[in-house]
Amino acid sequence: MSLIFITEDEAVIREGVRKYLEKSGYSVLGFETLKSAREALSVTKPDLLIQDVMLPDGDGFEFVKELHESSDIPVIFMTALSGEDNKVTGFENGADDYITKPFSPKELVLRVQAVLRRASSPSKNAASGAGANGADLSERTFIAEDGRMTFNRYEHKVTVNGAAVALTSAEWRILDLLIKNAMVVLPRAQILKECFDYTELSYERIADTHIKNLRAKLGPYPWIETVRGYGYKFIAHPESVN
Ligand code: CA
Repeated sequence: MSLIFITEDEAVIREGVRKYLEKSGYSVLGFETLKSAREALSVTKPDLLIQDVMLPDGDGFEFVKELHESSDIPVIFMTALSGEDNKVTGFENGADDYITKPFSPKELVLRVQAVLRRASSPSKNAASGAGANGADLSERTFIAEDGRMTFNRYEHKVTVNGAAVALTSAEWRILDLLIKNAMVVLPRAQILKECFDYTELSYERIADTHIKNLRAKLGPYPWIETVRGYGYKFIAHPESVN
């Protein structure tokens, strides 16, 4: 059973969401403040965090940014702030999805299911992408200038020059998609569709913000090329095998 944390200071919303998710078969713990959520997260890793933005003891965006420095827990922001800028801010801070109040419980459950499905099965994704010989399951190495990246889809692990890189689940999905399509230009719309189930073109900036964060984490090497006005291309070359 998946464990979901929800941080929301409004008791009516917090309890409403908790009851609805429990009815849908999830185990749910609710927190009224960032402080209590932080304490719980230090001892338990939930499968998903549903995070309000405006809380009495701080800002949910900042909280998740800090959380993702040491954790890859998927996050759905739940907030009264709407508008594209706020959505982009949410995604910049590592959101897997973003839901605006008021929302229907049914919509929330559908989004929770989608995020958990995408986040939970790297090995399943790997199997579906593997060739008949299963070669795709093994670790791959890419070179860009003097950077050396290893990408292990099966173990869900990325290193750059030997150091592990902590990616959020959203960043992981984008990098995985780019590598699967190495040397092919991927339009932003395709990245959003395949990684987030988003089809609205107004959200294309979200792809840009994730790529920006991904690049910052992968060091000063040209792994990913920007194709202006269009999309992105993974251009690092595979390490030659002798
Ligand atoms: Ca609030």
